[in-house]
Amino acid sequence: MVSEDLRIAPRVWQVEHIGLARRQGLSTEVYRRIREGELARIASARAAATQSQGWQQRFVWPTVGRISGRFGSQRVYRGEAAAFHSGVDVAAGAGAAVVAPADGVVVLSPPPRFSLEGNLVIIDHGMGLNSAFLHLQHSNVREGQAVKQGQLIGSVGATGRATGPHLHWSMKWQDARIDPQPLAGAMRN
Ligand SMILES: [Zn+2]
Repeated sequence: MVSEDLRIAPRVWQVEHIGLARRQGLSTEVYRRIREGELARIASARAAATQSQGWQQRFVWPTVGRISGRFGSQRVYRGEAAAFHSGVDVAAGAGAAVVAPADGVVVLSPPPRFSLEGNLVIIDHGMGLNSAFLHLQHSNVREGQAVKQGQLIGSVGATGRATGPHLHWSMKWQDARIDPQPLAGAMRN
């Protein structure tokens, strides 16, 4: 058990208003059922508690490139708000190396290829902290594998719902989505 009092500071979020109707995704009954199964699979992977001590480390960037999407940003289509962006996007080229930002245990690795996330790898860093890497071209790890910080886990791709090759890195601590960017600090290209 670790306990610490934290001061919560307000933050300005990036909201973009778009004068177009929102592009409708797949919404058929068949898709809804597929998606339910996918989300259950992802949730059970994220619920896995490992004894990893990676949470204690200073995180590094899993890949380098321009930050093309920030955590918490949101698009509003003609007044209709889309879900806020739950991770940080790094626009690295297709095939660029993706490494573990900290030690951990792989709790999910393709297959399957998810309809939105594409090839998805999730690493548990212990203490309820985990990282998800979306849209990968390829995964170099298997479920249950322990990985070290900086170890190659896959390559950047555009699988799932992605307009171009990029890495979407999202993190969860217990039930809360958190911004990976301040954890990783300044990016060294
Ligand atoms: Zn993203």
